[in-house]
Amino acid sequence: MYEVMVEEYFSAAHYLKGYDGKCSQLHGHNWKVQVFLTSNILDSIGMVIDFKELKELVNIVIDKLDHYCLNDLDIFAKKNPTSENIAYFIFHELAKEALPGKISKVSIWESKAVCVIYDGK
Ligand SMILES: [Zn+2]
Repeated sequence: MYEVMVEEYFSAAHYLKGYDGKCSQLHGHNWKVQVFLTSNILDSIGMVIDFKELKELVNIVIDKLDHYCLNDLDIFAKKNPTSENIAYFIFHELAKEALPGKISKVSIWESKAVCVIYDGK
């Protein structure tokens, strides 16, 4: 099995409803997004997928978040824009695409030191 990964970034604001602490106040992050795709099939030139193609798809999804206050988006009307829920959103948006493999996980880095990994299970 091969697993490929692309990394992209977006900047956005959010606040966490129900959180007892500073994160309940409006603040921003530069999120790092890693998307992993697995396949055991290679194309005619020996690749799972062109990294460029996967990056373009990831960026289409990330553009729905980039430079917004995430709480204002319909996506997060009923749930907090936590890194967990951001990972869920990105995972399932990409899983809708016709890809030469399966999205195996999405990791969302809220800072250099902390991340959430969601694998769709
Ligand atoms: Zn935050």
